[in-house]
Amino acid sequence: MNLQKEIEQLFSAQREVWKLLDDNCKQMSNIQYRSLTWGSDAEVVLQYNPSRFISASAKVDDNSIEERICFLCKENRPSVQQGIPFMDKYIILCNPYPILENHLTIALHSHVPQLIGKKIIDMLSLVEHLPNYIVFYNGAKCGASAPDHFHFQAGLKTNILLSSENSLRSCLRIESDTKEDAEEQFGYVFDYLKSHNPDDDEPMINIISFMEEGKYIIHVFPRKAHRPWQYSTKGAQQLLVSPGAIDMAGMLITPRKEDFDKIENNDIEDIYTQVSMAII
Ligand SMILES: [Zn+2]
Repeated sequence: MNLQKEIEQLFSAQREVWKLLDDNCKQMSNIQYRSLTWGSDAEVVLQYNPSRFISASAKVDDNSIEERICFLCKENRPSVQQGIPFMDKYIILCNPYPILENHLTIALHSHVPQLIGKKIIDMLSLVEHLPNYIVFYNGAKCGASAPDHFHFQAGLKTNILLSSENSLRSCLRIESDTKEDAEEQFGYVFDYLKSHNPDDDEPMINIISFMEEGKYIIHVFPRKAHRPWQYSTKGAQQLLVSPGAIDMAGMLITPRKEDFDKIENNDIEDIYTQVSMAII
């Protein structure tokens, strides 16, 4: 059976026995969106998603991570959560706090840090098996809520996420007919970004990958900050926006209604300017 069908079946089976997942998937189907445009130059869609409050406000500093139980390790996952093995290395799981239709977390079996390295080829294998999906990666310091346990995420494609044309933030696009060539091109981009901060384990990046007309596409979003200052301020100026790959691609997740209602074009420009690294 093909993997996409297996995933459909996994969702049906899991939703029958896992109320949290079922409730949040139901909420996903009548979620509110608001589109902001910059003429024909750019579009950003806001998604009001209260179930993401926990994730957006997650503490991901070293101490907090060390003190908590890893929710991606097999022994700590909810007993109700089942998955599909992939490549003998990963388990494909339904994400109980979705931001996309059929939102998946694809966790490596081993508890090793979130560093993409050679695993970019695994990401390309995933998109090959999941032509209707985007697969994404949040670096440890820019959006991953489990920076200590390697994982990808995936969800059904939506147009807003497939565009690299958005001048509000940097996006490096790789396009190739073969996995091996896409991997090689990614290596050049990675090394170039790493040269800016050679002492870091990996450059701050978000990645989105998908298939488009038989080609392997990788979008790399270089980052210079995890969260904008508005995230940690208090009072009227606070905006609870914690950008990851989906936000960088063009869909900004707002877990609070007040932020969803009040964010305007200039706020988005300001947020992207703070967290996206300009490419010279
Ligand atoms: Zn773990």
